[in-house]
Amino acid sequence: MRNLLSLFIVLLCTFGVAQQDSPNIILMIGDGMGLTQISAGMYANNNNTALEGFEFIGLSKTHAYDQFITDSAASGTAMATGVKTYNGVLGIDSKNISHKSILEICQEKGYKTALIATSNIAHATPASFYAKIDSRRKYEEIALQLSQHDVDLFIGGGKMFFNKRDDKRDLLEEMTQYEFVKDLDQLRDSKSEKIGYLTYKEEPPKKMDGRKPALEDIASSSLEKMESFGKPFFMMIEGSQIDWGGHANEMDYVLSEFEEFNTTIQRVLEFAKADGNTLVIVTADHETGGLTLSGGSVQRGISKGTFSTKGHSATMVPVFSYGPSAELFKGIYENTAIFDKMLESVTR
Ligand code: MG
Ligand code: ZN
Repeated sequence: MRNLLSLFIVLLCTFGVAQQDSPNIILMIGDGMGLTQISAGMYANNNNTALEGFEFIGLSKTHAYDQFITDSAASGTAMATGVKTYNGVLGIDSKNISHKSILEICQEKGYKTALIATSNIAHATPASFYAKIDSRRKYEEIALQLSQHDVDLFIGGGKMFFNKRDDKRDLLEEMTQYEFVKDLDQLRDSKSEKIGYLTYKEEPPKKMDGRKPALEDIASSSLEKMESFGKPFFMMIEGSQIDWGGHANEMDYVLSEFEEFNTTIQRVLEFAKADGNTLVIVTADHETGGLTLSGGSVQRGISKGTFSTKGHSATMVPVFSYGPSAELFKGIYENTAIFDKMLESVTR
């Protein structure tokens, strides 16, 4: 009996320690944030970027399953689930087989999970982590999948896909486990373990047009919330609109969206440094605009860009990593390896 008891205590301790040792993972995706966007944002920010504080740098090959130039659905799926697929598809591979995302695998390991975007929350990048669907455009179906998912905290626009639907369902009513908050104060005060914050009815506006709250404040409040749950967590934060600035070929749009994302990276890095057991990965799904940095001034903080396309380009994108297992992310690899490396970091 005594032996049994001590065995039980040993098991309990081992389990407890394993839980505590599991690192937090924060994956930050700058949509359309190629090396030129980073360089331009850095020079516009007094020759400085938070990315200089990272330990390891890699390069990711972004091509899709059978397309040279990827879209955000295929590359999001590659990073989230580890498989190359067709453009436009979320969470399923080229043979129509669904794959678990790193978020879902973390959930199975007892992690809490969070998704944050400056687009609508059913948009391709965040949806890559929870949806399994043949078209990224089916926003209402994607929102339905999120409503039936188990993500602990999600923040982004697109409220209309939940409560102004063709099928007349009101998912906000149906999601009885969730508390829906209206600002960051309510988020901080919430005692719920399932929280949604739908920031805008449609797509959130540009940062230049007054989008609120600031992404860095969303990140800080969310980190505080996730920490309060007392379990390891997986969090994906997307700077969604760097890509939209690239599509619009508007340098001001790109720079202002990057600036906010850069500030957010700084906040996240400070959290990781203080915490000591948080892996932070910052990367992009692809480059947008075929941007070249064709002129500028270091002294005056000016970056002038020339775009070569209204779409994406196929150039490799950088991967920056900090924290436990960060060294896994050095080198040159397929975007699917980002999933493999995150998985390795939680199973080590
Ligand atoms: Mg995106
Ligand atoms: Zn795009």
